[in-house]
Amino acid sequence: MSTESQNVKELFESWILDAETKLSEQDLVQNMKSYLVGQHPEICGKCTPCRDGVIRMEQLLDMYTNETATLKTLKELEQLTYNLRSSRCSVGLDIGKNFEVVLENNYNTLYQPVKKY
Ligand code: SF4
Repeated sequence: MSTESQNVKELFESWILDAETKLSEQDLVQNMKSYLVGQHPEICGKCTPCRDGVIRMEQLLDMYTNETATLKTLKELEQLTYNLRSSRCSVGLDIGKNFEVVLENNYNTLYQPVKKY
């Protein structure tokens, strides 16, 4: 297993080779947000999971940054990531695929700040 400061796209490539590869915990949320923001030029707006979902996912990540995230925030992030499976084209599908890997391999980092006990 390796924990490196790499971006979300690189994570997916590494994950193919090593399913336990994780992103750096320190800048995880910022890394996830900047990946989503970087996708804006590709998003055409024709379908809801990608057009609205990505914006909402960014807002949820901002809640982590502002320390207002709760367990509900993480659950919604998971749901929106899953919803991207119904995107109409590979842009949304790829964002969802990459985020599924991020959530799968870095779940504890996102869970720790919002856990109730
Ligand atoms: S998934 Fe494709 S069709 Fe849907 S909004 Fe994104 S870019 Fe447009």
